[in-house]
Amino acid sequence: MNSSTIQNPTSGNGFKLDLHWQILIAMLVGIVVGLSFSSCSEQEGVFYNFFSGLGACGLIKGSKIGVHNFAWMGELFLRLLKMIVIPLIFCSLINGISHMKVDQLGKVGLVTFVFFKVSMLIAAIIGLFWVNTINPGVGFDVSSISKVDVDHLTSHTDENLLLSIIPTNIFYSLSQDNQLIQVIFFALFFGIALVTMGSKAAQVAKAFEQIFQVMLKITHWIMFLAPFGVFGLIVKTVGTTGLTPFISVGKYMLVVILGLATMLFVVTPLLVYFLGKMNPLKFFGAIQDAMLTAFGTSSSAATLPVTLECVTENLKVPQSIASFVVTVGSTMSMNGAALYEAVVTLFLAQAYASIIPGIDLSLKGQIFIVAMVLLSTLGTPGIPHGGLVTTTIVLKAVGLPIDAIGLIIGVDRVLDMCRTMMNVTGDCVASVVINRFVHGEEIEVDSIEDNLEAINGKEEKSKETQESIIH
Ligand code: ASP
Repeated sequence: MNSSTIQNPTSGNGFKLDLHWQILIAMLVGIVVGLSFSSCSEQEGVFYNFFSGLGACGLIKGSKIGVHNFAWMGELFLRLLKMIVIPLIFCSLINGISHMKVDQLGKVGLVTFVFFKVSMLIAAIIGLFWVNTINPGVGFDVSSISKVDVDHLTSHTDENLLLSIIPTNIFYSLSQDNQLIQVIFFALFFGIALVTMGSKAAQVAKAFEQIFQVMLKITHWIMFLAPFGVFGLIVKTVGTTGLTPFISVGKYMLVVILGLATMLFVVTPLLVYFLGKMNPLKFFGAIQDAMLTAFGTSSSAATLPVTLECVTENLKVPQSIASFVVTVGSTMSMNGAALYEAVVTLFLAQAYASIIPGIDLSLKGQIFIVAMVLLSTLGTPGIPHGGLVTTTIVLKAVGLPIDAIGLIIGVDRVLDMCRTMMNVTGDCVASVVINRFVHGEEIEVDSIEDNLEAINGKEEKSKETQESIIH
């Protein structure tokens, strides 16, 4: 998590192992425990034979232990992370921006936005490449589709997507789980105002800096529970989904996983090496806590506190750049989600092509899909299944029935874990690259301190003047 976890063999929660090893072990044990629950209740298949052979099924039935006995650990951990997300993001963004200089704001903002969009474009193209190569939707039987309650999924429409970024009442947005983008929008304004006001608002900036440190401290404490939380979340996912839904959509899952793997193991190291001028192995080593937490929680927003610490403490990206890039990136930069949305749309388009006339699978049609994906990912919330929500926008635009996601919803959680890991990795890559582009090291001027010094200097002077008047 912080530099001490990298150099220090302990994680701070009393166990001798590094935190990322603890999380990894918790994940593996969680998969085994979850599989034993689902296989024993299905009462068939290889895993059922295995677990009942070990006597696990008899034990589970006899003791009446269920998934819920473990799921609470995940819920507890998620709630704590969610508790800290809004105050942390708010202070972190304001603090990050207030450490910049006026003329650097525009440059950082522009480079960040362009990098986000270009990396999402690459991700979407990779996704389409694998769909075109493996053709998972060709000949796919869509008759099994069950009606999906899409009302709660369609939270945005294409028309209000951009406008919905602007909060009409910031206090309302701060109290909502799904209005992160609005909080970011306001915090950006607040931070920019602080910078432009300089010494006049230096004390406010200093206060935000200190509150931010307090939030980081709390985050640190919450992370002690990460292994338990991730264990609980994995048992719940594997234990309730089971293996059956995976069989019919195996090819589609393979495409998503191949695409994400290409992005993670080919594109990411190239970007880190050539644009970030960093050793990719060191990079992955530094962000492993964030990657594993993202995998366990399926939420970039919930992972944000960990991502921020990894980027500032381990990757040594200055806080001014890290806060801006990682926080804005947690909702605006979604490489995993972009790849996933492109794959889902083309997969379903292939599957429905024989039933719905006019579905365009040509290059032009696919360029349209990419454009829609880039637009819709602007508003993808960093929450579990956030990408599924925004996929409905793309499906609508392409002319596919939204109910079609019923075909893939059953396996979404597992893919969500993988794409969230890619989303978070993408934010870390962006921080490293953007830091190099805008020479973040130089940006880390202690402008707040300078401003405070200026204020103190003025106060001293006015004291002297007053004294000289009195005497
Ligand atoms: N769960 C993802 C995230 O939080 C969003 C998605 O569904 O792709 O980053």
